[in-house]
Amino acid sequence: MLANAASLLNLDVTILDVGDRAPAKQVYAPSPPKQHIDGSFTDPEKILQLAARVDVLTVEIEHVDAAVLEKIEKSSRIEVHPTSQTLRMIQDKFVQKEHLKASSLPVADYLQVESTPEALAAASETLGLPLMLKSRHLAYDGRGNFALYSISQAKEAIAALGNRPLYAEKWASFTKEIAVMVVRGANGAIKSYPAVETVHKDNICHLVFAPLRESNPEVAATARRIAEEAVMTFTGAGVFGVELFLMPDGRILINEIAPRPHNSGHYTIEACYTSQYENHLRAILSLPLGSTALKVPSAVMLNLIGVSNNIEEIKHVARVALSVPGASVHLYGKTDCRKGRKMGHITLVGSSDADTRENLRPLLEALPGATP
Ligand code: ATP
Ligand code: MG
Ligand code: MG
Repeated sequence: MLANAASLLNLDVTILDVGDRAPAKQVYAPSPPKQHIDGSFTDPEKILQLAARVDVLTVEIEHVDAAVLEKIEKSSRIEVHPTSQTLRMIQDKFVQKEHLKASSLPVADYLQVESTPEALAAASETLGLPLMLKSRHLAYDGRGNFALYSISQAKEAIAALGNRPLYAEKWASFTKEIAVMVVRGANGAIKSYPAVETVHKDNICHLVFAPLRESNPEVAATARRIAEEAVMTFTGAGVFGVELFLMPDGRILINEIAPRPHNSGHYTIEACYTSQYENHLRAILSLPLGSTALKVPSAVMLNLIGVSNNIEEIKHVARVALSVPGASVHLYGKTDCRKGRKMGHITLVGSSDADTRENLRPLLEALPGATP
């Protein structure tokens, strides 16, 4: 999606990813003799090779080698956005929480824990049960989380999280999950997109409703303010995704921050004047930022998540969407469909929430495993 936005601006893009058919390479052809790079975004050699070919380097996943990026920042003529310092801080969810807390931003209580049943028992005394155990590193789509309801699950939790460094978070009995995309320009200017509601299923983002509907309009305004303040504490330009919990007493807590365009901002492609992808590019290239305002009254984003290795199940939903007014299909061109893998998404725009929700129904009914 970033490559798509870049091609419309005639930008010259070099992509580092594995294989010739990596999704971004399918949508962006470099002008010869330039070529994309075949390799892993965690391979320091390949990252250095990429740095040698570009003026500005950015990432769309935070699990990269921050040490190499720091070396590049220090030694070369090119800019890295966001900075290696930001990436390093966000990569470790415990360090991220410590940073947010030290910046007086609201987060749930948390504790660092050793991977032993005794340590988990002690954490549950302090934070209560259930509690959310989280891997400090390499977490995405909930694949580093374990909801601990009883201390009898301690061994199972440690095994499930693969003996990785952990921390424990107090359970957030949120009434809603909210997300706000924030873009920061190279000159430090900040703009936020409207607050949206996100709905997760099995720890994976399932639906996004834009804008957030709350009887108290202060909620959306507060969410945006907290998200902007949080992003201001990090260095580097670009788009950041801020995930928040709305608590029953009206407080808003930050769950986590992504230093890149984010799933909860996919809706901006069809629903906002300037998408999160275009604004990310404008930000890292020191161009004027575009408007983050909605240009439609209502939008919904449905993730297309693999249920099995059968891509036909996903294509079926996409086919149904072709007959739904206001629906835009995005299939990512990933070669293997797998359970839990994000294979694409559908965005619906409409003249009212009633309209988009009505049009969402046939898509939900077409999802694999849905009961008609
Ligand atoms: P992402 O794909 O967003 O990076 P992740 O693997 O980093 O996901 P989190 O965002 O930490 O995981 O958690 C995933 C989901 O689990 C949250 O969106 C929320 O629904 C739930 N969750 C996380 N932390 C808590 C908590 N402390 N209390 C209750 N539920 C939580
Ligand atoms: Mg995360
Ligand atoms: Mg998350």
